[in-house]
Amino acid sequence: MFKDRVAVITGSARGIGRAIAEALAEQGCNIVISDVNQEGSQKTADEIAAKYNVKTIGVGANVTKKEDMTALANAAVEKLGKLDIWVNNAGVLRDDLLMRMSEEDWNLVLDVNLKGVFFGIQAATKVMMKAKYGKIVNISSVAGLIGNAGQANYSAAKAGVIAITKTAAREYASRNININAITPGYIQTDMTGALPEKIQVELAKMVPLPNKGAPSDIAKAARFLASADADFITGVILRVDGGMAIGF
Ligand code: NAD
Repeated sequence: MFKDRVAVITGSARGIGRAIAEALAEQGCNIVISDVNQEGSQKTADEIAAKYNVKTIGVGANVTKKEDMTALANAAVEKLGKLDIWVNNAGVLRDDLLMRMSEEDWNLVLDVNLKGVFFGIQAATKVMMKAKYGKIVNISSVAGLIGNAGQANYSAAKAGVIAITKTAAREYASRNININAITPGYIQTDMTGALPEKIQVELAKMVPLPNKGAPSDIAKAARFLASADADFITGVILRVDGGMAIGF
């Protein structure tokens, strides 16, 4: 399905980003692993190249830096020949109740989770517009749909990702660039594994389906949105949450 395609995934040294990279590589896609953790990027890129027999590069890139995002898009074209798919996945948590939340934690979460998507879309579309082809997938969260106590910064950023997805989908549709978002629910990764045990138990109780959400569940949805099967889909916000936010 993805033979000769090239995908960039931000924050893909581990977790959901890595799972998306693997799902695409499994179907022949060449991959740019990028993460603020440069060493991790290279390691993951090498492992995916060996496992799936595709071309990969590992790039250290911070999504909050516009010049890093531009360099990342250019690296895809220079080292792998083109850029077809871009997944804005990098994200961080700095949870606290609103009354205690520091300006620093507000700014960091908005910068990484929302401004990073803005820079990512700008960098990717600059290349994709020339090719008149592109698939962009933004990773939002159910927190951006229904809110979550202790996550004012994160929920606001993720709601912003939903809004920028819809706007960008309208702006770039005439260039044949599809832009969609996924709102994952509670997924078992290092990010959620670091939450207090009590919160993890409460989150799990909010999921109607019996199985636990895995990074591969998000990866399969992202792969669908990046595929030719989704050629007529743009501006969609796809819930992959075991039913956690049904109705939103
Ligand atoms: P994770 O912490 O395991 O992985 C995130 C990756 O992003 C890390 O490798 C990290 O180094 C990288 N990163 C952090 N800041 C960065 C920056 N400034 N520039 C580039 N890379 C950066 O998290 P995850 O659970 O895999 O989450 C991936 C995405 O999915 C995030 O956007 C997250 O908000 C979203 N999400 C996760 C869940 C969940 O339950 N795990 C639920 C909803 C949404």
